[in-house]
Amino acid sequence: MLTKDTKVEQKLRSEAKALLEQGKVDYIIGFELGSLKFTTTPLITSDKDDTSRLVINPFIANNLSVYLPDVKGRVGIVVKGCDSRSLVSLLQDNKIARERVVILGVPCRGIIDLSKVEKLVGKERDEIDDIVREEDRVLVTANGNKKEFPTSEVLFDNCLGCELPTPQEYDILLGETTLPAGDSDQAASLAKVKQLKDMPAEQRWEFWKSEFERCLRCYACRNVCPACFCQRCFVEETEPTWLLPVPRWQDNLLFQVVRNIHVAGRCTDCGECERACPVNIPLRSLTREIYEIVGELFQYKAGMDKDAPPLLACYETTDTEDFIR
Ligand code: SF4
Ligand code: SF4
Ligand code: SF4
Repeated sequence: MLTKDTKVEQKLRSEAKALLEQGKVDYIIGFELGSLKFTTTPLITSDKDDTSRLVINPFIANNLSVYLPDVKGRVGIVVKGCDSRSLVSLLQDNKIARERVVILGVPCRGIIDLSKVEKLVGKERDEIDDIVREEDRVLVTANGNKKEFPTSEVLFDNCLGCELPTPQEYDILLGETTLPAGDSDQAASLAKVKQLKDMPAEQRWEFWKSEFERCLRCYACRNVCPACFCQRCFVEETEPTWLLPVPRWQDNLLFQVVRNIHVAGRCTDCGECERACPVNIPLRSLTREIYEIVGELFQYKAGMDKDAPPLLACYETTDTEDFIR
């Protein structure tokens, strides 16, 4: 039995049911339990009885705003802080209209990275009986033995440094506000990114070359990303053909370089692309670095203000051009 955020979950179920019953939305997009232990999966439903399947727990990883441009009608959607920023970014890009979305905001306490738990206890998913989150610690039971870890040791790196855990843009807030990460957690969240950045250029090149030799070009990283919304992705163009269909490392790397440029100013560091990668390529080391560069050059953070123009759709005459490095 994994920990639920029970009160929040109950509120979500009753609010979602009421929205469908009163005809205020046509669909609810939320999370239900997944088929594997310690997972959840997206639930998109128009049936009020399905709302009893909605869950809120420390494994609600997906950024559900990715579905918004494709689900027609009025939609009630469950969003954590980072997802709400992606939603706001979609509003800024006119990909969705605010009036057709009812935002059910979840004040987020971070998502547990099961692979970190498995490493800490030396057991695999199926050997772990229970994972319980209590305030700032996590209790893990495996083979009848209970071990305790600080939450900071088991959260995904992006959650560790979360800048906006409670959605700013919402219609219904499902719980009490949670606080952004402090400085030391933010630094820990960036440790891997920094380690790569500090590598000599040649070594870094070799690192990425070997990482992208493993890329299958499955496009999972693109498909889960709310910021990757082109109707026709450049990788599928045939005139001209930008990439060979065979996943050679050179083309795989080019795909990620172009993808990262396309999501610059839209990426909210939700971590979904890295989580979705079946071969564990550390994609956040690219996306988060672009996030940092966008912040440094333009003092801009994606999805913070729905009335602001999208970063790459405007310019100021005072913009410098020294960003071409
Ligand atoms: S990045 Fe923040 S809002 Fe998003 S899942 Fe992690 S803690 Fe929650
Ligand atoms: S998810 Fe991973 S393997 Fe698939 S295309 Fe992206 S980087 Fe390559
Ligand atoms: S690029 Fe990755 S981290 Fe950024 S918004 Fe897309 S899925 Fe999230």
